[in-house]
Amino acid sequence: MSFLDLKNVTKIYPNGTKAVHETSLSVEEGEFMVFVGPSGCGKSTLLRMVAGLEDITEGEITLEGNLMNEVDPSERDIAMVFQNYALYPHMNVYNNLAYGLKNRGIDKQAIEQKVNDAAKLLQISDYLQRKPSMLSGGQRQRVAMGRAIVRDPVAFLFDEPLSNLDAKLRVQMRLEIKKLQTQLKTTSLYVTHDQVEAMTLADRMVVMNEGNVEHVGTPLEVYTKPKTLFTAQFIGSPAMNILKGECQSSQINLSSGAKLKTNSKHNGKVNVGLRPEDFTINEKGPIKLNVELVELIGANTLIHGRLENSNEILVASIAGVISESEIGNQINLSFDENKLHLFDVNSNQRIN
Ligand code: ADP
Repeated sequence: MSFLDLKNVTKIYPNGTKAVHETSLSVEEGEFMVFVGPSGCGKSTLLRMVAGLEDITEGEITLEGNLMNEVDPSERDIAMVFQNYALYPHMNVYNNLAYGLKNRGIDKQAIEQKVNDAAKLLQISDYLQRKPSMLSGGQRQRVAMGRAIVRDPVAFLFDEPLSNLDAKLRVQMRLEIKKLQTQLKTTSLYVTHDQVEAMTLADRMVVMNEGNVEHVGTPLEVYTKPKTLFTAQFIGSPAMNILKGECQSSQINLSSGAKLKTNSKHNGKVNVGLRPEDFTINEKGPIKLNVELVELIGANTLIHGRLENSNEILVASIAGVISESEIGNQINLSFDENKLHLFDVNSNQRIN
């Protein structure tokens, strides 16, 4: 038994949409688990079932060993933080933080203590008398988190909490959430479509696609050994290149004619995954790329082009400013063969 267990959890909405398919996973106490995937893959539905805001069509959810399926959300001792903050506009920050505690009949002095502690932790002590409309987006998000913290719940659930913030603030708040969770050690489930957010926040991440779990693992496991072609292409930016190839006697023959070595004993057709950042420019490299577009993004240069012969598109990310990669030129690339990813052409499962 883990802290939170999902067993074959399925959600079918009344209109027939199957949002989550037979999902099983376990979350350990104190863990920061991030659910990531494209819009519509079922992340929020899964989170809302844990919170009790959606019925479970089939399967079981247990929290600390207790079956939650029929337990009212208010009885679950779980706090949820939403994207739209869900603050009471007519109340000042203090009362927004105190409201839930007052409702539970906690005495005034204890409330004051909890609110002040949370405000200090979140650095919003100076704003306690302000209404939400007088706060910046980042401050509102802190208040929303404060409301979850004062409840001292057994778990936090975050549903895209940073989506309404601008890019710079997102990064700052991301760091703050991570710091806060490390400090409080409260089990957290966090939903995002942003793979960078997932990679940086998660102890473990759950990659979802069309209601199915594709991969559960640490960010490093998911990045270095993606279990499926979907995960391979979803995690990493720019996305992993996928080329057609054939595996034979520890060698991969790409459609373009280039040959790469592999430890895999697989024989037959494969999808070959090559991360853009694992290429180097090398006159003797086996991969010949006709350059079509070059993006200088500061630390790296992204070189986009097509492979000679096969015409497949490929992007390489090379450290530094690369001046010789001009549009219309042909460049030779070599690839770190220890970093090859091979996927079955039918099942799309990893095979090396
Ligand atoms: P995500 O959070 O990954 O964007 P959701 O869990 O919100 O995905 O949605 C998963 C699927 O369920 C989508 O196809 C969505 O359109 C559908 N869906 C979500 N809520 C409802 C609802 N109340 N009724 C019917 N279908 C829904």
